[in-house]
Amino acid sequence: MTKRILVIGAGPGGMATAMRLAHKGYAVELFEAEDRVGGRMRGFTLGDYAFDTGPTILQVPRVYEELFNEVGLNFTDYMRLLRLDPNTRLRFWDDTVLDLTSNIPAFKQQLAALRPDLPDAFERWYVEHIRKEVVGYAPYLGTPVRPVFDYLRPSELAAALPFRPWETLYDHYWRHFQDERMVYGLSYPAKYLGMHPAACSSVFSLIAFLEFEYGIWHPEGGFRALAQALGKAAADLGVQIHLNTPVKQVWLEGRTVRGVELASGERIAADAVVVNADFGYAQQQLLPPQARGRYTDQKLKRMNFSCSTYMLYLGVDRRYEGLPHHQLYLSEHIRKRERPYVDDSALDETNPSFYVCNPTLIDPSNAPAGHSTLFILVPIPNTSYNVDWDAKQASYRDLILDRLPLLGFDHVRDHIVAEECYTAVTWEQEYRTYLGAVFNLGHDWAQLGPLRPHIRADHTRGLYWIGGAVHPGSGLMTILEAARSATTFITEDLPIAQPMAAVALP
Ligand SMILES: Cc1cc2nc3c(=O)[nH]c(=O)nc-3n(C[C@H](O)[C@H](O)[C@H](O)COP(=O)(O)OP(=O)(O)OC[C@H]3O[C@@H](n4cnc5c(N)ncnc54)[C@H](O)[C@@H]3O)c2cc1C
Repeated sequence: MTKRILVIGAGPGGMATAMRLAHKGYAVELFEAEDRVGGRMRGFTLGDYAFDTGPTILQVPRVYEELFNEVGLNFTDYMRLLRLDPNTRLRFWDDTVLDLTSNIPAFKQQLAALRPDLPDAFERWYVEHIRKEVVGYAPYLGTPVRPVFDYLRPSELAAALPFRPWETLYDHYWRHFQDERMVYGLSYPAKYLGMHPAACSSVFSLIAFLEFEYGIWHPEGGFRALAQALGKAAADLGVQIHLNTPVKQVWLEGRTVRGVELASGERIAADAVVVNADFGYAQQQLLPPQARGRYTDQKLKRMNFSCSTYMLYLGVDRRYEGLPHHQLYLSEHIRKRERPYVDDSALDETNPSFYVCNPTLIDPSNAPAGHSTLFILVPIPNTSYNVDWDAKQASYRDLILDRLPLLGFDHVRDHIVAEECYTAVTWEQEYRTYLGAVFNLGHDWAQLGPLRPHIRADHTRGLYWIGGAVHPGSGLMTILEAARSATTFITEDLPIAQPMAAVALP
């Protein structure tokens, strides 16, 4: 007989886990509070303009292909990915421009113009990372987390130590390049781990390598189309998706999960519950105290949560031809290695770094002909630092619009037709994200691997977590890897008889 599993939240992690569980033969129901799937990547429309809300950078497409293949589907039947070149254009505090690209010879040519020995230094770094991917990806990112001592076995240490994991990302890049443009340029992905390179382990240099090696991609129709594709695939596999159906709390008897109680008051019984709602939010809102284990309010306060993001989503009546899809301005302030710069504990109101996505050139479907959308992101403090956004929002908008020419977006103010703005408060309240910390838990040593919250809840039988808070981390790629681990744990704990293979009669 099959077993029934309920998933709370149709974020990417919830949908990927639901797909895998349905394929294994479980009866899966997914409850989503909003009117559409996708979570932080659900997107929205404003008049004739369609916007992605969260992710814009898709790394390592094989992770998506594997998800679909492993459940018997073909990713290309659901989604087309478009490769970007350059991957990202960086503009630095000193006006240097560097295009990160998977065209390695072209990248080295740019490096030679910065300093003649940099291409060779980059070559050495690249070769080291070919090995680092072999040693680091499958055993660490691509497999379920193991007990701490497992990582301390002599064979593990012998494999890992040559890569100096104790170094910070800053020290790692400085050792290789002795140039702060390279240090901050290659460590920008640390931001979406919620970390400053001076506070982040060098193990994460693997992310920059993966972007060089496998490129950066854009899902045709945007990440909101990717969200719909995951939802459709889940439905095709038999997952019942209930939209506009917020869960009030996980229903428990003692320390055993019995199901969920919906906001409507209805109780749905199940053998297991997978929580994809944001970890901190769900601890506080969806679990009774006996199921929270050590994650009390005090513990959550002591944990390190990521920054939030200020967002401007603009529909404009022109196109910015010739400007890359992804651009990042790295200001002088990113070089400061003290508070508040290193931990985003205060709003930078003078010279913040910022990112702009210009998606319409490659994907014109999101705006009327001749128009485009712009997606502007600025790292800001999460809500634990009490920025008064009612007072600051208008002036911050002005500051950011004034700075857009730094990335080539001239006279944007004159062309705005539609506009939406998010602050940390929006992420907290409208996206049910603890502290508005959009990249979830930070990835410092105390919150890595087995020290992150566990997928299989420690104190409650039948409760599982999936999303950015669990190992291996908070990006789409890592969350999809975690969905495979979640399925492994659930099939171990709740085995069901596999459907018999059909036998051909003579
Ligand atoms: C601005 C921004 C930029 C980002 N950029 C990138 C990027 O470029 N690349 C990348 O890989 N990642 C990026 N990320 C991170 C990525 O978006 C997240 O890691 C990912 O969306 C988190 O997925 P999740 O599975 O944890 O679920 P979430 O997206 O957090 O979804 C959780 C779901 O649970 C639902 N829910 C909550 N409470 C309830 C309830 N009580 N009942 C029912 N449903 C509930 C929510 O409505 C939501 O749909 C970005 C995020 C943001 C915000």
